[in-house]
Amino acid sequence: MRDFSIGVDLGGTNLKVGLVDNSGIIIDKIETKTIAEREYELILEDIKNLILNLIDRNNLNISNFFCVGIAIPGKIDSQKRKVIYSCNLPSLNNIYIEEKIKKVIDLKVFIENDAVCAALGENFYGSSKNYDKSFLVTIGTGIGGGFIYNKKNFLGTEIGHHVINFDKNAEKCSCGRKGCWEAYSSANALVKFFNREKEFLNLKIKEAKDIFELADKKDNYKLRYIIKEYYKNLATGLVNIINIFSPEILLIGGGISRRGENLLSMIKKTIIENVYDKETNTKIKLAKLKNDAGIIGASLLHKYF
Ligand SMILES: [Zn+2]
Repeated sequence: MRDFSIGVDLGGTNLKVGLVDNSGIIIDKIETKTIAEREYELILEDIKNLILNLIDRNNLNISNFFCVGIAIPGKIDSQKRKVIYSCNLPSLNNIYIEEKIKKVIDLKVFIENDAVCAALGENFYGSSKNYDKSFLVTIGTGIGGGFIYNKKNFLGTEIGHHVINFDKNAEKCSCGRKGCWEAYSSANALVKFFNREKEFLNLKIKEAKDIFELADKKDNYKLRYIIKEYYKNLATGLVNIINIFSPEILLIGGGISRRGENLLSMIKKTIIENVYDKETNTKIKLAKLKNDAGIIGASLLHKYF
């Protein structure tokens, strides 16, 4: 019986592969480093090997599965199963993923933008389950955004690259342009702002969570200021999303969402003050599926094509 699907979350840093049953439960998963600068053949080879390894160690075979779904950061042609452009995984640009995987694993392969996959996972099993119009932003190394409406239509966005600062001295973004939301509000951006301050230089902080931990322990004016500015910029982008898409619910996922209720309380005031429609009833909540959202969402892709 074909009771399972395979969900692959191919990130710029980590590659996660999971066996997912038809109620959205991950029964087993493997994770490794992506090593994004490699040739695409080596990355796809890892995906194929991890899938076969998982199937084997669970005493299953290909006939127990109905498909492989892969979540990939960047712009995707999901009909042609082709990566159009991924700045995080450049060797995958213009590669037809399905035909490469199918040579070894004879299953249908679906691919979609990673934020869309996370949004689908949340819409099926998570925080936006009861909503027809939902938007999910993932705030981690970069920023992604997926919009789902009427349960069956979805749209991947490059919301991280909408410009929030048009000044000529605006922050440079990983996409090569200036002033993008991502350059101010990703986890990487927070680390960049922190490490720029002379008084914190010797701390050599690499992750945003360490900055928040430090702020929880130490009351330092500069640190408070950096975090306040960070949240202000984050809220600015969220206001723009509400103004453009008017979702019923706006979910925040990705590493930064681990700040939980503290994050929500820090951004809500700026959002209420700045949103166009003061009567807006967009709810702002945290995503629920955490690190598994990509795997679960990718495993659901077959339902949408
Ligand atoms: Zn950008």
